[in-house]
Amino acid sequence: MIAPLLTPMTALDIGARSQAGVAVEVVETTGSTNADLLARAASLDAPLLLVARNQTAGRGRAGRSWLSSSEGSLTFSLAWKFDGGVQRLAGLPLAVGVALAETLDTLGVQVGLKWPNDVLRDGDKLAGILIETQGAPGGGVWTVIGIGLNLLMPDETEALLGRSIASLPWLARMDRNALMAALLDGLAGALREFDGAGFKAFSARWNRRHAWQGETVVILDAGKVLHEGAAAGVDDTGRLLLDTHEGRITVLAGDVSLRMKAS
Ligand code: ATP
Repeated sequence: MIAPLLTPMTALDIGARSQAGVAVEVVETTGSTNADLLARAASLDAPLLLVARNQTAGRGRAGRSWLSSSEGSLTFSLAWKFDGGVQRLAGLPLAVGVALAETLDTLGVQVGLKWPNDVLRDGDKLAGILIETQGAPGGGVWTVIGIGLNLLMPDETEALLGRSIASLPWLARMDRNALMAALLDGLAGALREFDGAGFKAFSARWNRRHAWQGETVVILDAGKVLHEGAAAGVDDTGRLLLDTHEGRITVLAGDVSLRMKAS
């Protein structure tokens, strides 16, 4: 008998390989792991990782969608509680990008970061990060950190999106449980660090990986150009620094999009 290419993902296997001490659940199919964890956040009393072998309605920012395939991507969300208010979470999506990049580094894959929440490989989007929040019943905030990572997506996805996307053929052949455990450990470590020190501990690390440093970019809001300038990295709260004709400005993530200026 020919051995199956991939060992199926199981909560037991991921949990056994992880050092994070986080409970793990794996489901066969769901609409959105973020939606599932948000619905359960009020009843959680500890962090929880939810992995979907197949996600059918993955979410991106501002109602956009994230496409995945059961064989060709990893889709998961991590519910993590922070004490204090949402203002403490400034820069969290960027810190998560750093955590992903640093973990991928340990697996031999170099990636870049695009403000505010994309992981790029050779200029194309490799992973998306969506963080949603909910007030915790006893105080503090539950964050649900959703990540979609392209491993080897079918060509149709690029056709559907109308742009090329990145893949990781080498990691696609790695044991999925080991890969998921490594990503969980990297994330949990980063979230504990963020809890103690905030984004300040990550800003230099983010800037070292800034894929569009010095590029002329535009900031778009609902398709309208708000600002144009040279991207100059981020500050200690995760705002984008933009060198415009009027001088340096800072841009808050909100729902704006960053695009390379067409030459
Ligand atoms: P952008 O990077 O386009 O400004 P965004 O940062 O708001 O958008 P996200 O919310 O992170 O984007 O992700 C949603 C967008 O990512 C979708 O609108 C789609 O263009 C793109 N996308 C969806 N699925 C994938 C995928 N598997 N790989 C790469 N890109 C994808």
